Amino acid sequence: MTHAPLFDDATLTALAERFGTPLWVYDLTEIDAAVGTLRRAFPEAHLAYAVKANANRAILRRLHAHGVGAEVITVGELARTLRAGLDPAEIVIGGPAQDRALRDLARRSGVGRVSIDSASQWRDWCADPGGWPVGTRAFVRVNPGLDPATHEHMATGQATSKFGLAPWEALELARQVADAGSLAGLHVHAGSQIDDPSVHDGVLEVLAPLYAALPEADELDLGGGFAVPGFPYDVLAERVGAFTQERGLRLWLEPGRALVATAGLLLARVLHVKEGVRRHVIADAGMADLLRPALYGAHHPIRAVGAVAARPAHAGPTDVDGPLCENADRLGRDVVLPEVSAGDLLAVEQAGAYGLAMGSHYASHTRAAEVVVDHGGEARLVRRREALEALWADEVDEVDATVSA
Ligand SMILES: *Cc1c(COP(=O)(O)O)cnc(C)c1O
Repeated sequence: MTHAPLFDDATLTALAERFGTPLWVYDLTEIDAAVGTLRRAFPEAHLAYAVKANANRAILRRLHAHGVGAEVITVGELARTLRAGLDPAEIVIGGPAQDRALRDLARRSGVGRVSIDSASQWRDWCADPGGWPVGTRAFVRVNPGLDPATHEHMATGQATSKFGLAPWEALELARQVADAGSLAGLHVHAGSQIDDPSVHDGVLEVLAPLYAALPEADELDLGGGFAVPGFPYDVLAERVGAFTQERGLRLWLEPGRALVATAGLLLARVLHVKEGVRRHVIADAGMADLLRPALYGAHHPIRAVGAVAARPAHAGPTDVDGPLCENADRLGRDVVLPEVSAGDLLAVEQAGAYGLAMGSHYASHTRAAEVVVDHGGEARLVRRREALEALWADEVDEVDATVSA
């Protein structure tokens, strides 16, 4: 976790003054750098950004400017991605559901790929009035059934997870799809925060006999899940490169976190400090803004911003807590922080992925604003702070209760 701070303290202090807190701040140049890292390792691959990591339009546009496509799993994600101007041909639809609304929009817009997660999903696509979309090619998602005891991050790739099909079932379905003339290849997304590329060796071992039985396949979608920071892309590129070259496969990758995590931080203000057995720093941002610490026990570096940062570290244990009445409402546990007081600013770093995207209205907390900075220039507001009215805008008055959804 030795990543250099994204912005200097004077910049962050000025942003907090101008836009208020909590505030999401993204550095678009950091996204450029992340794309560069992946491109250098996989110059031939098609990158399809997993939109669930961060669906902000400015970010989608920046990625699109680099020729990065998208991986989407809901009609909302597909609509936002198209609205951001992405080329439908560069989009892959994934996920275990793929409801009618998503299928209809995909068919109308002409998406490039769909990753089929089950036989029933394939039947749904084919049974729609439009049938399987002309010009769209399919991946079949394989559940590699890797032992989570050996790879603790393989949460989506273990046999008992809901994702994909067991290898022999995937092969059976892929044969059907190939016979229908729509097969691109196979898809595996082994999990998230994978830091060991030997996980992918296991995946390729599972895939090798399947590709041998699918001579029509000319693509491989290896998903995303690359740990931030520090995934050894060169090691993976060498192993995957050998596999794809031998078989003449074009590679698709679906990085989410790897493209945006280091590009964003959450700026919060200290509201109260409570001394005791454990020091509690109550901030104006918490689990409704950044859920990962509460949901996964995820660690985000937190630092004090401004002159306060130069003070000596507080001696006892410190939790940085959120504003809501919920024990899990916390941004960090055992954080090393100086003596802070009300009004001081905190920067929660490496928060560009799965931040606002996983935020909620819990306890009627409204969503924070988002700003982007490009090449150290003037910050640009790309999402307004949510107004209180948003909390009840969709409520129907009792007198209007006859109005249907
Ligand atoms: C979530 C997801 C990704 C992206 O995962 P990251 O850990 O953010 O890289 C890619 N592909 C699929 C199918 C996913 O579900």
